[in-house]
Amino acid sequence: MSTSFPTNGQSSQQTGSAFPRALSEFERATLLWLLPEHKPGYQHYRRCIETWKVIGRGRRGEGNFILAPVENPAGKTGAPDTSAPLAPVFAYGVIETSAGKISATLREVEEGQSQRDFQLEFEIVNLDSETIPETFEERRRWNFSEWSSGAQCPMCGQHVREITIQRVTGIALTLAICPSDKRLWIYDGSDGVVHLIPVTNFYNELMMHKRVRDPEIALDSQHLFRDLSSYSDSDLTAAFIGYNNLRKKVELGAIAQTTVSRRSFFSKFFSALPKSRQTGLKL
Ligand SMILES: [Zn+2]
Repeated sequence: MSTSFPTNGQSSQQTGSAFPRALSEFERATLLWLLPEHKPGYQHYRRCIETWKVIGRGRRGEGNFILAPVENPAGKTGAPDTSAPLAPVFAYGVIETSAGKISATLREVEEGQSQRDFQLEFEIVNLDSETIPETFEERRRWNFSEWSSGAQCPMCGQHVREITIQRVTGIALTLAICPSDKRLWIYDGSDGVVHLIPVTNFYNELMMHKRVRDPEIALDSQHLFRDLSSYSDSDLTAAFIGYNNLRKKVELGAIAQTTVSRRSFFSKFFSALPKSRQTGLKL
């Protein structure tokens, strides 16, 4: 190896400090792959990838960059704003290659109010090495974005627990939980988007709903996966509604009575109150 500089699948000239710059072909193709064309909910992000420029580095080291419209609506060239908390993950996938596992993370668009206005952070890194060489052999790739109801876990290929949350409009959401990967996500049938749900925050809502106060259980989110069969669809639905009230991932609207118990509705109102208990995992 001639250099240890992380190339991110492109020459170091392209990843130099000159900003704004265009996405490299590898970055562009990888980010668009995280945003399936056939799902309407990904179109806005696809347009951002197609038209925005890399305006600088993020705070997480090599491979972490920030995209923005070069001419933003305030008429100024955007500068990366890394002072705000890291935005939640919008899309995630892994490309398994002869050079290691390359992970790609795209965060939610941040819409500010001043000249920084819009920015979109992504991270493409080799999980097994410092660098991503310009050429490698691809073995497999998977992401969450392609998932839809009835499919197996994209990570491990195993069966996932699915909970259907029926809106009164008839358009359902599917909450999916993979115990072997310890991941959960929600699929929105209205736009096809798959939102990753941070385990800790979801579990907090579940414990509130179940009124579990024993810290041995209430503070250990791993119980969610270990004891998954002990939670009913209604419990898990209530936990999701509580979570979504705090960190809105989807437009829930009214939920059909058949999928939510009366107690879940109580939990919904109760959980909307104290915001200070938001803790933990930042997906
Ligand atoms: Zn899995």
